[in-house]
Amino acid sequence: MTTSNPAPSSHLLLRNAHVFAPEDRGIQDILVVGGRVLAIEEALSVSGIPGLQEFDAQGQPVSPGLVDTLTHITGGGGEGGYATRMPAMPAEDAWASGVTTVTGALGTDAVQRTLPDMLAHARHLAALGVSAYLYSGNYHLPVRTLTGSVQSDLAYIPEILGVGEVAIADHRGSHPSADELARLSADVRVGAMLAGKKGVLSIHVGDHEAGLSVLFEAAEKHPVKLSHFYPTHINRTRELLAQGVRFAKRGGVIDFTASTNESLIASGDVDSPEAVASALHAGVSRDNITLSSDAYASLPEFDSHGRLLRLDMGRLDSMADAVRRGCEDHEQAFSTLLRTVTLNPARVLGLSQKGQLVAGADADLVLWDEAHRVQGVISQGVVRRWPE
Ligand code: ZN
Repeated sequence: MTTSNPAPSSHLLLRNAHVFAPEDRGIQDILVVGGRVLAIEEALSVSGIPGLQEFDAQGQPVSPGLVDTLTHITGGGGEGGYATRMPAMPAEDAWASGVTTVTGALGTDAVQRTLPDMLAHARHLAALGVSAYLYSGNYHLPVRTLTGSVQSDLAYIPEILGVGEVAIADHRGSHPSADELARLSADVRVGAMLAGKKGVLSIHVGDHEAGLSVLFEAAEKHPVKLSHFYPTHINRTRELLAQGVRFAKRGGVIDFTASTNESLIASGDVDSPEAVASALHAGVSRDNITLSSDAYASLPEFDSHGRLLRLDMGRLDSMADAVRRGCEDHEQAFSTLLRTVTLNPARVLGLSQKGQLVAGADADLVLWDEAHRVQGVISQGVVRRWPE
């Protein structure tokens, strides 16, 4: 296995790929030219492309690159003092994890972690081949911005796709009212409209029993739809998952956090593959569920007095791992699980070039083995990792 980059901006022909677009399209050849998918067809005949590199996928699954809507690319945490600050994400982690698109968020700390630093790190990742975006703001209101307002951040900064994660039902948040959230969602929408973006308001949901109630209230009182909010950590408790099912059945998209650990599961977290299976079983559309990694976040555990008990770190490879375990342990279809980490998150972010394997899309691809483990990654038409 190699993680080196054999040839920048190469033209590639990937033969005999079992294409999951994320729908199962059977065995196809994939032609990549200039960073885009040019064609996906059976037994493609190709000539006249100089320097074309040919690979044989030998019938193994090939999917779009994974799209992560929540990653703390400059590191999260710090909630137990300076020893608990998490490190920044290196580009190599993307190739190891099958993730080709990331969305950075600040999280709890917007005092010592800053948007200029996160924008610079997103551009660093982009220079190395990761498609990197970010949210303005953090857990708190009033929203901290880069240019002075939410609207101008969205209008002027190409990488800013929305605001988040704004915390609700969490002792670390600002306890925003339904009115404040409705107003913020309007700011996101107007800024996004001006820039031709979709606009996302990512909502971090904590463990307080109020859960999503303030979002339901905002949608009842104001001309705001539930789909204007994008709540994450919905697998934090079974009660929140039940609320999330209601939210998604009324048109919202819910996000499950793939990163977890045994101690969080023991204290009530629903493991993300189980959460997906359970939401689908409860009648949620497979279009209204996403998984994100929460990579480089701290996974803190607090006692009933809000004191930090222990801290772990979110992992970028948790998304691919959740797909694998969903297939193995919950008998879910690979294409359904893939949708939650490719097409659905790309739609939430409004990235029409991402999340699907079709002619014209960005050439972000993942090669899987039959046991649904990531074996190879191509991003922006360049091979980043490939089995030897
Ligand atoms: Zn969060």
